[in-house]
Amino acid sequence: MNLEDYKDVWVFIEQQDSHIIDVGLELLGAGRELADKLDVKLCGFILGDHVTEAAKSLYAYGADKVYVIEDPILKDYRTETYMKATGDLVRKYKPEIILYGATANGKDLASAVATEVMTGLTADTTLLDINVEKRLFEASRPAFGGNIMATILCKKHRPQMATVRPKVMKKPDPDWHREGTLELVSEAISLKEDTLRTKVIEIVREAKKAVNLEEADVIVAAGKGIKDEKGFQMVKELADALGASVGASRDIVEAGLCGHDHQVGQTGLTVTPKLYIAIGISGAVQHIVGMQNSDLIIAINNDPDAAIFNAAHVGVVADAFEIVPMLTQAFRTQLA
Ligand code: FAD
Repeated sequence: MNLEDYKDVWVFIEQQDSHIIDVGLELLGAGRELADKLDVKLCGFILGDHVTEAAKSLYAYGADKVYVIEDPILKDYRTETYMKATGDLVRKYKPEIILYGATANGKDLASAVATEVMTGLTADTTLLDINVEKRLFEASRPAFGGNIMATILCKKHRPQMATVRPKVMKKPDPDWHREGTLELVSEAISLKEDTLRTKVIEIVREAKKAVNLEEADVIVAAGKGIKDEKGFQMVKELADALGASVGASRDIVEAGLCGHDHQVGQTGLTVTPKLYIAIGISGAVQHIVGMQNSDLIIAINNDPDAAIFNAAHVGVVADAFEIVPMLTQAFRTQLA
């Protein structure tokens, strides 16, 4: 394999019902920085039926070029068809780096493509960078139970690939007046429906979750420092007074005080609210990776050395049982 034949940074643009889902746009933001460091093009690739119009909007989000394969057999995600289509594009156009959203489909596709084109894949990365001198992609993720951040390199194979969870990267603001024009490359897929081993019979959409922390603007999150059901109730009252959603560390979920759909962190959700209030949370790296991109983080902890203060913009060293009821009362009065 001649590594120098490979160039450009690619992003898998995932779509549902021909609508682009946000994680692809978030990765265009991250991909733009990588492409600029390497001085190469940022390209999206989108597979589906009737997706060309949607593809055109990607220029405003930083893409220079978009590869499109439009075919009814690509309407819904299937490993077989998407792997073949992506493999064909990779073999023909030789991208240097490919980023995928770590959605159910993105994770499935990335691992299938890694075997199809015989390259490596770093899953669930939280930091992306380039070693410009060596022209190597550096994909970092928590490892060994979150005790270290591992930077993973793919030195001998191309493309270098990573998945990134939704909301870890910030979606860029679209620039509808960006100078220049998008290069659109249309390709075809050689597969035929009757030769495929899988058929999509029906898509059953899951009912919307009662808690949607990923969309929340304000989250009040409870950690083990709140101790028990009574303490958790105290946190819920503060959240109510602020009109906020309730988040939790894994220890709180494991203590049975709330469901897993409230858990923030490596094995829970990644959230990016405008305000995240962490109460009695120590700041383990597995928690931090899920909330570190919040606009404003306020931490309340009675231990001045708690690691959460390293991630917080505002740190309050106090006993949660004293300060939280006072805050709830103040917000209730002021916001009434
Ligand atoms: P603790 O670490 O026990 O911290 C409690 C904090 O409360 C302490 O800092 C203490 O000073 C403070 N406190 C005590 N009393 C008071 C008081 N009266 N007032 C104010 N503060 C007080 N964790 C997650 O959260 N999310 C994940 O997704 C996740 N995934 C994981 C995946 C793996 C593979 C592993 C190994 C671990 C994972 N964890 C996760 C667990 C993580 O390592 C920590 O154990 C967990 O986050 C700790 O939760 P905590 O901060 O609530 O509790």
